[in-house]
Order: sequence, then structure tokens, then C-alpha cells
Amino acid sequence: MTDCLFCKIVSGEVPAKKVFEDEHTFAFEDIDPKAPTHVLIVSKKHIRGLKEASADEAHIVGRCHLTAAQIAKQRGIEEGYRTVLNVGPKSGQSVFHLHVHLLGGRDLRWPPG
Ligand code: AMP
Ligand code: ZN
Repeated sequence: MTDCLFCKIVSGEVPAKKVFEDEHTFAFEDIDPKAPTHVLIVSKKHIRGLKEASADEAHIVGRCHLTAAQIAKQRGIEEGYRTVLNVGPKSGQSVFHLHVHLLGGRDLRWPPG
């Protein structure tokens, strides 16, 4: 998709602090971190969000979460981290390209706000 911030980050058109990349996912540091670790894991394919993902894209949704788990392990935050997928404007979703937040490195309260 031409006019999508995260597509532009995946293609390199917009710079980002890259953390990891594989066949289906691309991970980079969030520009406005809410925790010591705040990494965004996005699908390489443009998918608008979780509710727009189709059954044949299930593996991509799963891969995003597994990439988050891998990064959490590498960073030594496995004692407690959170993966968050905001869905829709009322949840705070502001970029309409599928992405998982990986948050950790501090105590996380429950329930989230
Ligand atoms: P969401 O609110 O779930 O759609 O998450 C979007 C996230 O993208 C927010 O946490 C933003 O801080 C982050 N963000 C926006 N622009 C950039 C950027 N250029 N590079 C890295 N992260 C960004
Ligand atoms: Zn996109």
C-alpha cells in the first residue's frame, strides 16, 4: 500500500530503528516508548488490522506474536512482558497496518487502561 506509514518503514522509505526481520514480520523500536522495551512487530504484508485479517492470514498474525516472544527472550524480559494488539480507533489504534506491541522491562499493571 503506497500511503501507509508502516509499509514505508518495511520498505525503508521511512527510517526506523530496526530490531528484527524475517519472511513475514518486521520489528522496530516504537518512536514514543511506553516501557523500557517497546517494540512494534508489523506484518510485511499490508493488513489493515486484526479484524480485517482473513483465515489464510492467520499464520502472519501468529508469526507477529512469535517474533515478539523471540525478541522478549533475547532481551531477557521473559519474567513479564505484554503483547498488545489495538483493534479499532476506540482502542487507541492509530496506524491501520497490523502490528503487535511488545512492552516490557518494567512492572505492568492489570487491567490495562
Ligand atoms: P497503535 O496506536 O496501536 O496504532 O500503535 C501505533 C504506534 O506506532 C504508536 O505506539 C506510535 O508511537 C508508533 N509510531 C508512530 N509513528 C512511528 C514511527 N515513525 N516510528 C516508530 N513508531 C511509530
Ligand atoms: Zn501498510
